[in-house]
Amino acid sequence: MDQATFKAIKVKLTDYEILQTLGTGSFGRVRLAKNKETGEYVALKMLKKAEILRLKQVDHIISENTILSNISHPFLIKMLGFTQDERYLYFLLEYVQGGELFTYLRNKGKLENDEAVFYASQVVLMFEYLHSKNIVYRDLKPENLLIGSDGYLKLTDFGFAKQVEGRTYTLCGTPEYLAPEILLNKGHGKPVDWWCLGILIYEMLAGIDPFNDEDPMAIYQKILKGKVKFPRNFQQEAKSLVKHLLIADLTKRFGNLKGGANDIKMHRWFQAMDWEFLVQKKLQPKYKPVVKNKGDTSNYSTYPDSTELPKPVKPTDDPFIGW
Ligand code: AMP
Repeated sequence: MDQATFKAIKVKLTDYEILQTLGTGSFGRVRLAKNKETGEYVALKMLKKAEILRLKQVDHIISENTILSNISHPFLIKMLGFTQDERYLYFLLEYVQGGELFTYLRNKGKLENDEAVFYASQVVLMFEYLHSKNIVYRDLKPENLLIGSDGYLKLTDFGFAKQVEGRTYTLCGTPEYLAPEILLNKGHGKPVDWWCLGILIYEMLAGIDPFNDEDPMAIYQKILKGKVKFPRNFQQEAKSLVKHLLIADLTKRFGNLKGGANDIKMHRWFQAMDWEFLVQKKLQPKYKPVVKNKGDTSNYSTYPDSTELPKPVKPTDDPFIGW
């Protein structure tokens, strides 16, 4: 996969009415937008070019764009097109109406076991698919898992995703979800995603992540110490699976053994899962978000409007010219 295979449709921004902010990211915000002619709603990810340059993230952004335009899976966000001007890159994404898994989880406190199984199994299929294309995602967290109006998940934000054959060394991710091999800068690859799955399962069932602390340094120390404490009522099968995922030793971590993702899929916590039905969305989700109409944003937080106009980038300094 290289840039030559880039195939997202170039769109005209003037065809869209740009509406409220759905969320914010490292280089800008994601806003709802409506196609003036068709009435179709999309999520418009706006990335400030000057910020991308300042933080030396050009390669990551190119990688995000290339990966988004080369993936196709029911549980991964779909890129509908892209465009740019002198200030921003714009990625047009399908609009996912149900909000972040993060919000649902915080409102509920903890999830019931069967709900956690339902969500975690979709994450297993996301990673199985991405890894089959040698893509490591590297930023799993409940904020990046959006809930569709059908109750199924869509993974968004491929800003840290990377195509790798072996190991890579950039430090990235979110403190609570960082795998020990990232912290130790030993080089990391696909197994980091399985580590994150372990954190996610723990967080869904316990309502808090296993290495939580106010101070990021203390989080890192806990991760490196590797001792996972489970609440007393933590579901037993889930505990067994999480222990197989939160293992620093890569030769023992599930997902990274001979059986690959199958070792996880065959684990007894997933015993009742029909993987074929899942990918065909034939299972009935317990939670279906309330969505009043196609442009409903009530499942997202409200953000103050930004009037700030970022600095334009001169064509001679712009690495994205010609995209
Ligand atoms: P990102 O910068 O890609 O991490 O996006 C920041 C936030 O914007 C996410 O955490 C979501 O709240 C929201 N968001 C991103 N993509 C979409 C989408 N396709 N549909 C709805 N909201 C989105």
